[in-house]
Amino acid sequence: MELKFGVIGVGYLGQHHARVLTEIPWSCFVGVFDTDHARAEEVAGRLKVPVFSSISRLVGECDAISVVTPTRTHADIVEEIFRYGNPHLFLEKPIADTLENAEKILGLVNEHKVTLQVGHIERFNPGLEAILDAHPRPAYIEAQRLSPFGIRGTDVPVVVDLMIHDIDIILSLVQSPIQSMRVVGTPVITPHIDIANAWIEFENGCLAQVLGSRVSLDKLRKFRVFDREGRYFSLNFDTRGLTQAKVTLSPGSLPKIERHSQTFDAEEPLKKELKSFIQAIRENTVPKVTGEQAYEALKVALEVNRLAEESLRRFQQLNT
Ligand code: NAD
Repeated sequence: MELKFGVIGVGYLGQHHARVLTEIPWSCFVGVFDTDHARAEEVAGRLKVPVFSSISRLVGECDAISVVTPTRTHADIVEEIFRYGNPHLFLEKPIADTLENAEKILGLVNEHKVTLQVGHIERFNPGLEAILDAHPRPAYIEAQRLSPFGIRGTDVPVVVDLMIHDIDIILSLVQSPIQSMRVVGTPVITPHIDIANAWIEFENGCLAQVLGSRVSLDKLRKFRVFDREGRYFSLNFDTRGLTQAKVTLSPGSLPKIERHSQTFDAEEPLKKELKSFIQAIRENTVPKVTGEQAYEALKVALEVNRLAEESLRRFQQLNT
């Protein structure tokens, strides 16, 4: 049976949620709600779908809802949704702005026994899927996610908005508790940390070096993994170009390096992501990105940000 789907928040990303949900199988699109009524009318007009005048009215018609509003509003909106109904939830990343708000969301979802998936969209990048399918045992990971400045997402620090994508991926790859972290970071344009570099050491010995910036001149999305079996993976999330190399050592000969590069075709990642959410609901299975995983990524991101702020205070004390 088709799922009746609605979208709350149709700004930059929400408009694409609404479009994709009118295009994919098993979704019967019900309509949109946005506090900016003119924006809601504009997007709904383009897609020829209804605009709802309140969350309660939309929720009353839906089996599932996508929440695509600014991160600071997620917890209040989820609370309001469950006041009026019991829909399955797709919540954009990060799950929330604070751990308290994330706990509130997880508590409500468990109480209402619905499926929650969080929008860590890079998990659906075919290049990353190829790396995960190879089951590497990472020794060292390097991630660089740099963006030119834009006003969206600046209600939270860069670590919580951008770096959290790589943190989530690294946690799912390494599967070991964090032992220690060192971070440097600084604000540049906003009052929050705008650029941060974190060294994250795991109990199994893996080291991840993660750079996130929203004040870069150019956009960059690089991810490299060196594993314990002499394998190397280098992925550009943007182009979906993946290079894999393997070193083979034989006594008495020079090391042999096999190298293979490929560029993956992309089904629109948002389409893959929302299809997989619908599949999890229909088959009553665990979604690919759970609320608990999103909570763990947020917890690490907030700690990285706290350490970045601490490094900034140290720098200011030493230089005044
Ligand atoms: P945006 O500012 O472009 O759009 C937000 C929309 O929500 C606006 O139209 C606004 O009017 C509406 N809104 C605000 N408060 C509301 C409320 N209480 N009820 C209903 N509507 C409300 O923001 P955006 O860039 O689309 O980001 C939205 C969310 O998506 C954020 O959580 C962001 O982190 C996430 N995001 C994720 C990715 C990704 O890669 N997965 C990319 C961009 C944004």
